[in-house]
Amino acid sequence: MEYEIKLSNIRGRSKRGNFLCSAGKIFTIVFFLTFAKSYDVLQAQRLSRDLNMDLLTNQVGYLPSSTKTCVMQGTGKRDFEVVEIPSGKVVYKGTLTPCHGDFGAYACADFSTVAKEGRYYLRADTLRSFPFSISNSVYQPEMNMIVHYFSQQRCGASTTGYLSPCHTDDGIRIDNGKHQDVTGGWHDASDLRKWVSATIYGVIGLAKAYDLEDSQYDKIILDELLWGNQYFLKMQEPQGYVMDFIGGDLKKHSDNNRWTDNKIGSEGTDIKLVEPNAGISKQLMLVSDNQDDRIIQTQPVEMTAQYNFVTAEAMMARITSKIDPAYSKRCLDAAQKCYDWCLNSNSDTTAAIAGAALQAVIEMYRTTNLPAYHKHATELALYLKKLQAADLTEGVSGFFYNSFSDHEPYKNIWNGCQAFIGLSDLVLMFPNDKDVQLWKSGIKEYAEHYLLLLSQKNSFGIVPFGLYEKDPGGNKKIGKYWYRYFMEPELEWWVGINSNIASSGVGLLKAASVLKDDHMKALAQKQLDWILGSNPFNSSTMEGAGYNHPVHFAGSSFLPSVPVLPGAVLNGLGGDHEDMPVIGNGDWQISEYWTPMVAYTLWLMAALSENGNAY
Ligand SMILES: [Zn+2]
Repeated sequence: MEYEIKLSNIRGRSKRGNFLCSAGKIFTIVFFLTFAKSYDVLQAQRLSRDLNMDLLTNQVGYLPSSTKTCVMQGTGKRDFEVVEIPSGKVVYKGTLTPCHGDFGAYACADFSTVAKEGRYYLRADTLRSFPFSISNSVYQPEMNMIVHYFSQQRCGASTTGYLSPCHTDDGIRIDNGKHQDVTGGWHDASDLRKWVSATIYGVIGLAKAYDLEDSQYDKIILDELLWGNQYFLKMQEPQGYVMDFIGGDLKKHSDNNRWTDNKIGSEGTDIKLVEPNAGISKQLMLVSDNQDDRIIQTQPVEMTAQYNFVTAEAMMARITSKIDPAYSKRCLDAAQKCYDWCLNSNSDTTAAIAGAALQAVIEMYRTTNLPAYHKHATELALYLKKLQAADLTEGVSGFFYNSFSDHEPYKNIWNGCQAFIGLSDLVLMFPNDKDVQLWKSGIKEYAEHYLLLLSQKNSFGIVPFGLYEKDPGGNKKIGKYWYRYFMEPELEWWVGINSNIASSGVGLLKAASVLKDDHMKALAQKQLDWILGSNPFNSSTMEGAGYNHPVHFAGSSFLPSVPVLPGAVLNGLGGDHEDMPVIGNGDWQISEYWTPMVAYTLWLMAALSENGNAY
C-alpha cells in the first residue's frame, strides 16, 4: 500500500510515473521491490525542479508602513498570496492585474496592508518571489554594508582599503611639477581615480546617513567621513576653489589610473612643458613612460562640484562641532572660502549650478544660522522658479530648462533633482517665508506634472532620465517633448540610472513631507524597489543584497582590478537605443560602482527608514 501511495505521488508529476502506472498492481509492487532505489531518484528530480521566480519585488524588503508592490511579466490576471516564513501561513490574498507600460506587458499588485514584521514570499500557482523581510530596520544591514563599502574603497594607508596601503605618494601638481600631499579619500568607479566631482557625493551621502540614522551608527559613519574628507580639504587651493582630480585622465584614457609604489618621487621625474590646455597658460606634465607618482589636475573642478564641496564641508562642520571644534572650524572655513570664490565667479546661470548652489547655501544656513544664506537661498529659488517650465498645455511641465538661453530640458544622470530637493528643504526650514507658496507650487509642479506623470507610463514606477526637444531614440513622446528612462547608448559615455532614480526618490520623499502627499512617498519607495530587484531582470543592483546581480565588471587598465565589494551599488541597469532596459554583460556602464549611485542609495534608504524625514 505504501508503495502505491508513493506511485500515485509520482504519477501526477512525472512522465516516467505515468509509464509505471500503466502496469497492474502486482507489477507495481514487484517493480518497487526490485527497483526501490529508482524511486529515490525520481523523488530527488521532482524536488530539484527549477522554480519560477517571476514575481518581482524589492528583494531586501519593506518597512511596515511602506507601499509594497509586486510586478509580473505577462498579460493576464492572476491571483497571488503573501506567505509568511516559516509558518507557511497565507497572510494576504490579492490579484495581479494588467498594468502595461513602456517596458511591455506586465501585471501589478499592491500588498501594502501586510505590515507585520517578519519574513515572507509571494506565491501565485507555480510562480513565486524571492523571500524578503518586513521590518522597521529592514534596510539597516544594507546601509551598514554601504558604509563598509566606502571603507573598502579607502585610498591611502588605511587599515580597511581592499588593497591598502595604496597611493601614499599622491601626487605631483600638473602646473608646477611639485609634490603635494593629496592622500586619503576614496577610489571611484571601479577604478583608482579620485574625481572630486564624483567622490564628493560620498561625503554628502554619508553625512545625510549620519543625520538620519540611529546614533549607535554615528561613530562608524563619522570615521568614514573623516577619512574621505582628508582628500577634499587637501584639494582646496588658497584661492578657495577645489582642484579637479588625481588619478583621472590627463592626455589619454586611463593614463593615471594605476597602482603606484607608494614612494614619493621614486620614478618618473622627467617633467617637461607640453601642450598647454586651453585656459591654463603654463602646464607641465610628466611624460616619462616609467612614471610612477600620479598627477594632480590642478584646474578648478566644475562649478556644481565646487558648490557640492561647500555642502559637504558645511555638513562636516556641523557634525563635528561638538566632537572636535577645531576640525569643525577648519571645515567651515573651507566651505566659506569656496563659497566666496563661487560667488566671485558669478556663474549661477544654469539650472545645474543654481541647484547645487541652493543645496550649498541651505547647508551653510543650517550650520551657521546666518541670514545672508537665507537671503541667497530665496534669490536662488526665485531664479530657479523662472527656469521652470510652467505650461502644462505642452503635455508636461514642472521640469527645469538648462538656462534662459538654452531651453533644452535639464537632465543629469547623477542628481537632476538637486533643485527639487532644495525647494523642499526651503519650505521645511522657512515655513513662514513670504515666498513659501511660490516654492510649494514649484515642488508640486515638478512632482506631479513631471515625475509622477512620467512614472505612470511604465509598470515599475521609475522616474525618467529626462525630456528632449528631439527624439533621442525610443520614440517615447509626451506633449511636445520626447523622454527616455535611460541615457542614449550612442553617447560618448553613458551609465545606468541608479543615482538618478535614488536622488529622485530623496526629492519625492521631501516633497511628500512638504505637500502631505502619500503618492509621492509611494513613488520614492518604487525607485529603491527597482534598484533592489523590482525590474524586468529580477536583478538586485547592489552587491551583497538580493539576487541576480549584473555580471561583475571584470577589470580596467590595472591589475589587480577591483574585486566584488559588498555594499557597492552598481551604476544600474541601462537602456538600448529604443530605451528598453538592458542588463549588459559586465559592461562598465552598468556594472561599475560610481560614488553618486552608492551615496544617493544610502541617503534614500536612510530617509525611507526615517519615515520620510529626508533631511
Ligand atoms: Zn588608492
